Amino acid sequence: MSLLSELTTLRLGGPAANMIEARTEDDVVAAVKDADGRDEPLLVLAGGSNVVIADDGFPGTVVRILTRGVEDHGSGTLTAQAGEPWDPFVERAVNNDLAGIECLSGIPGSVGATPIQNVGAYGQEVSETITRVRVYDRRAREIKELEPADCGFSYRSSVFKRDPGHWVVLAVTYALDAQPDSRPIRYAELARELGVEPGATAPLADVRAAVLNLRRRKGMVLDPADPDSVSAGSFFTNPILDQADFERLRERAQQLLGDGTQPPAWPEADGRVKTSAAWLVERAGFARGYGSPGPVSLSTKHTLALTNRGGATAAQLLALAREIADGVEREFGVRLVPEPVLIGLTIDAEEQ
Ligand SMILES: Cc1cc2nc3c(=O)[nH]c(=O)nc-3n(C[C@H](O)[C@H](O)[C@H](O)COP(=O)(O)OP(=O)(O)OC[C@H]3O[C@@H](n4cnc5c(N)ncnc54)[C@H](O)[C@@H]3O)c2cc1C
Repeated sequence: MSLLSELTTLRLGGPAANMIEARTEDDVVAAVKDADGRDEPLLVLAGGSNVVIADDGFPGTVVRILTRGVEDHGSGTLTAQAGEPWDPFVERAVNNDLAGIECLSGIPGSVGATPIQNVGAYGQEVSETITRVRVYDRRAREIKELEPADCGFSYRSSVFKRDPGHWVVLAVTYALDAQPDSRPIRYAELARELGVEPGATAPLADVRAAVLNLRRRKGMVLDPADPDSVSAGSFFTNPILDQADFERLRERAQQLLGDGTQPPAWPEADGRVKTSAAWLVERAGFARGYGSPGPVSLSTKHTLALTNRGGATAAQLLALAREIADGVEREFGVRLVPEPVLIGLTIDAEEQ
């Protein structure tokens, strides 16, 4: 029996009842059809960098997406098979003077997972460049080509995340800008690292190097020598609050901290306000390294990453996540939502 812990960046997860390695689109579709035909639970797994899998493992078929291939349609349009590793794909775009995904350097995982949670970092999201997603529709039992409007992209989400079990992503097409410089740098920290004003551009290779530097300093690139990278990246998404809830948060922060510190506020197009999960976690009393020496703790470099320091169980990781979410809710009245997909686990109640 294959242990799923060997296939996840958190190194957590028990055995899979059945495991299929799918190296071609036909393999993927056949394996999914087969499991669906037998009414068996199905887990689609690629890089394993955004999942927390239960210690009991998975009681059905795990289909590993190992498809490969990138097709260049010219004028900056590329189609990659779902199993293509993401970061080498970004590197290739940067080396070929194609702009639009340079700020997404260093993110682990596969191309096919990028539309699932609308992968984003340092001011870019894949929804800005994806023009087509080729999927197997498990309900209609046919292959379809989805337009961006069909994908329902939002902050760290999409129809694929909101309606899991409906589609399997087979390939993704990105329309990039054929130019040697980046798109405008929107993220202040990245602009500072590059020594440019926000809104300016910079050579693509410089942006990639700056993003990788920033990410390394936060333990946010996979590195066997860095125990802080044994994670699923950020464990909680940034909360998006309506105006009244954000006002309540400001008042709570004022009462609690009493030093004039304000929670970060990034206005959303629909009038709501996005605030910082890391700020809430820290101000609720969970510092970097909280939980050390382990077996689970917050990263020593980043308060949003929950890490397995060695020999941890998924139950222990979820217990820490719950403690943090409960602490933030108690102090600030905001419930944090996990970013990774929890398989056979829940954060809001005791073990299933
Ligand atoms: C150190 C570190 C840093 C990270 N930084 C970021 C970051 O900056 N920004 C960010 O957005 N994310 C980040 N992540 C999270 C993660 O890397 C991304 O979400 C990535 O896209 C997941 O890809 P994966 O192939 O590993 O997906 P997996 O973990 O294998 O799967 C994740 C989910 O997607 C589903 N899925 C995967 N492939 C398919 C497919 N082909 N069809 C249908 N469903 C599929 C799975 O069933 C599962 O529900 C980080 C993770 C780590 C470990």
